[in-house]
Amino acid sequence: RLAYEFDRGFSHLSAGGRIPLGLKSKSLRILVTGGAGFVGSHLVDRLIDRGDSVIVVDNFFTGRKENVLHHYKNPRFEIIRHDVVEPILLEVDQIYHLACPASPVHYKYNPVKDHKTNVMGTLNMLGLAKRVGARFLLTSTSEVYGDPLQHPQAETYWGNVNPIGVRSCYDEGKRTAETLTMDYHRGLNLEVRIARIFNTYGPRMCIDDGRVVSNFVAQALRKEPLTVYGDGKQTRSFQYVSDLVEGLMRLMEGEHVGPFNLGNPGEFTMLELAKVVQDTIDPNAKIEFRPNTEDDPHKRKPDISKAKKLLGWQPIVSLRDGLPLMVTDFRQRIFGDEKDQTG
Ligand code: NAD
Ligand code: UDP
Ligand code: UDP
Repeated sequence: RLAYEFDRGFSHLSAGGRIPLGLKSKSLRILVTGGAGFVGSHLVDRLIDRGDSVIVVDNFFTGRKENVLHHYKNPRFEIIRHDVVEPILLEVDQIYHLACPASPVHYKYNPVKDHKTNVMGTLNMLGLAKRVGARFLLTSTSEVYGDPLQHPQAETYWGNVNPIGVRSCYDEGKRTAETLTMDYHRGLNLEVRIARIFNTYGPRMCIDDGRVVSNFVAQALRKEPLTVYGDGKQTRSFQYVSDLVEGLMRLMEGEHVGPFNLGNPGEFTMLELAKVVQDTIDPNAKIEFRPNTEDDPHKRKPDISKAKKLLGWQPIVSLRDGLPLMVTDFRQRIFGDEKDQTG
């Protein structure tokens, strides 16, 4: 395996050649694809804090430079504008592969491109991992379970996915990405990790990305009605972003390939979510019903027994505790931006 000495690693030698307890002797060079996005930028914060060097590769389709701007002056941080559908040569120890639009509005915008990102993008990053002997972590999704017939969903469930629907580019794209990852692992002995991420929210989400939490929070702040699709009885389980990042890092550093469900088992109907948003932001916020989108999964809740047992991980931030942290960020971005525009 490649190992790169950086200033922090060398500085340990000045202490009489002894490495202080609790510090690693070497920092890693880590590639985060999609690192300018919502989840990726929080992961980058943690890796930089830990003392590692980070290279972000991002095409800025849904990511924003502002999410990682605070690292620009750090010599351990680099960012490259690049589309993972094209090959790239880099030397790294680990790859967190996140690049892929995650919200239905974004992936339905150009489904063929989404599929290419999932398939060719993942293939390129696996090829890179193989060339340099890096450990590779894929951020897959609960969408691989489709509209699940098993509840809650355990990793052993193979899913109920429509292969020709409007969500298929994402669902089937991620399923293929998992297949490729396992084939590089089995056939080429690559060290891999697979996370199946359930709905995650927090600061830095795109404000108008159409996902339910960002929609409701932005709507309540702007004094617009909360748009509930369908009858609002469909369920999701919402995880705060810091819990997810902790899970991803434990998975990368641990011994197990996975797949592992990473999500918060607290399950809410969309009407219950709307109530939490009303309680947090504006008790007078109105609810407006809209027709639901095609192929919308009826329910989703992770069984996280495997991650609890093998990674010693479970989420610790409840929806009622996490939502206010996101609201602070959204309030600042929405009203800050509007103020900028009006002069
Ligand atoms: P996001 O849209 O905020 O981040 C994705 C990032 O990837 C963005 O910065 C975007 O610009 C970049 N990107 C997209 N296509 C690219 C390409 N072809 N080349 C280079 N960069 C590209 O989404 P997120 O919520 O941070 O999701 C990150 C990962 O986690 C995704 O792979 C997503 O599928 C997965 N995931 C997220 C959730 C969730 O609820 N947030 C749930 C399940 C899975
Ligand atoms: N690849 C890449 N960076 C690298 C090594 C490979 O982008 O450092 C790409 C390569 O261009 C190919 C893909 O990864 O499209 C798969 O590479 P691999 O070597 O596994 O397969 P092959 O090139 O033999 O088809
Ligand atoms: N949804 C909603 N109102 C919105 C946006 C979404 O009621 O303004 C519903 C949507 O129909 C789905 C759920 O919220 O049942 C979660 O949608 P999201 O797009 O956030 O994530 P995903 O469907 O990928 O889980």
